[in-house]
Amino acid sequence: MICLAGRILGIDGFEKGYVIIKGKKIHEVGKIPALKPDYKGYIIPSPINAHTHLGDAFIKKRLRKLPRDLEKLVAPPKGIKHLLLERADRSEIINGIREKLMEMEGLGLAAFCDFREGGIEGINILKEAMKGFDIGSVILSRPKSLTLDKREVEDLLKTSDGIGLSSLSDWNYDDARKIAEITRRRKKVFAMHASEGIREDIDEILDLKPSFLVHLTKATEGDLERVRVENVPVVVCPRSNQFFGLRPNLELMKKTGIEISIGTDNAMISDPDIYKEIRWIRRNVKVFDLEEILRMITYNPRRMLGIKMEEMEEGKDANLVILDTKSLKPLFISGREVSQDEG
Ligand SMILES: [Zn+2]
Repeated sequence: MICLAGRILGIDGFEKGYVIIKGKKIHEVGKIPALKPDYKGYIIPSPINAHTHLGDAFIKKRLRKLPRDLEKLVAPPKGIKHLLLERADRSEIINGIREKLMEMEGLGLAAFCDFREGGIEGINILKEAMKGFDIGSVILSRPKSLTLDKREVEDLLKTSDGIGLSSLSDWNYDDARKIAEITRRRKKVFAMHASEGIREDIDEILDLKPSFLVHLTKATEGDLERVRVENVPVVVCPRSNQFFGLRPNLELMKKTGIEISIGTDNAMISDPDIYKEIRWIRRNVKVFDLEEILRMITYNPRRMLGIKMEEMEEGKDANLVILDTKSLKPLFISGREVSQDEG
């Protein structure tokens, strides 16, 4: 039995308490433990990585030095990433993805949301890589090329959880609108990157009624206000932005009241360690309290992605992590002990 004690992050906020775990199940929850705690810290539900591109993990092995230029590296169809994905063989991509899935499982993540490139084949590759892993997923796919083929979109929606487009600037607006419409009709998720390297027209984007947007690094206060009024949540990826010399304006996002979740973005750029992102925010952004930051990797992404929250109750699976109060590094992860230098 392992006894965790400290402050438990519930849906309504922090509460002092303890959790005793037996095997992989929660044995007891309460206010004051009778046992001496094995670990003390912040007890949070297993985190979610709200934005990944696991498919490009293999590229890190191929190229040691990636250009820090958004256009050159990741813009479709001619960015290095897309050319390499196009030419790579299936097993190379799958092995890269599996390595990242292993890392995420080791970090105790409950689920991730991936923007998968490569059309139907892209979905199949990710699903094949996921065999044998016990981690939840929201797979957002996209058409193989930047043109509309309604049949292809219908097929993508049959085999994935929705659509995640690169950005509006890559698309003919009418085509993007049709894709969004078809996705909504099928009651699936429609999401996209927005205003990452350049500011894009927020009204055009919001007219597509996205389920959520990723980045908004170049959005103005007015743009963010529009996003807030439409109640569209936003995913930020600070370490990936930093790689390209960008920074999410989290101060303005806080001011406008946007609901924020966190992702790690391209696997070739940042590892999927979501705790590194919250540490980045803690260090670099002063407007959030800790509870708000921890919500960005627990409750906010669950609401945004429609992932059910399992209560921290006796008899339930121990889907939780305890973080050190100073370093915010995980001390104990869902049935697995970690050494201090991990995370
Ligand atoms: Zn992305």
